[in-house]
Amino acid sequence: MSARFPDFRLGSVLATSFTGTLTERRGDTLERLPTPQRLIDWLAANDLTVESCSTAQLDRARELRESIHAAATAAAVQAPLPAAAVRIINDHSARGAAAAVLTPDGERRWQLGSASGVEDALGVIAADAISIIAGQRDGRLALCASPTCQAAFFDTSRSRSRRWCDMGTCGNRHKKARFLANRNVADS
Ligand SMILES: [Zn+2]
Repeated sequence: MSARFPDFRLGSVLATSFTGTLTERRGDTLERLPTPQRLIDWLAANDLTVESCSTAQLDRARELRESIHAAATAAAVQAPLPAAAVRIINDHSARGAAAAVLTPDGERRWQLGSASGVEDALGVIAADAISIIAGQRDGRLALCASPTCQAAFFDTSRSRSRRWCDMGTCGNRHKKARFLANRNVADS
């Protein structure tokens, strides 16, 4: 991974880790997939190794990402799902030709079929998004409480009371702000 580019925030849920490659959507937006190579790197970090990626494929990946973000956000607030976003997610899910294979160690791996593999990898991500938006998995979609973030994340905590998309960034920033606020009160 190159130090010239922003790091990835890798979570345990594929679809929302993917939407997390664009951060601070309501603030100083940061694109963590600025080049096709960074999409290759991100996919590799998520056990979806592809041969190559074109600029057009990166564009489609970002379109899928924003569609998942829109649909997951709507689902989190129980609003109607945006039709265009649903169509794009479904298109990707239907087009992908990845096969789930079982390793000798009993783990699931994705076997990507097509030439570059990018479309298949996006299909896996789209199917993952469908499973969480459709409520097929144990957890709850929620929006990050940070006003500059508001990312949709998948809360798998037992109490379903998680407030931040990421404890290391949004949660930590909140903690620091609260600490400073308390200190200012104490000083005055
Ligand atoms: Zn956040």
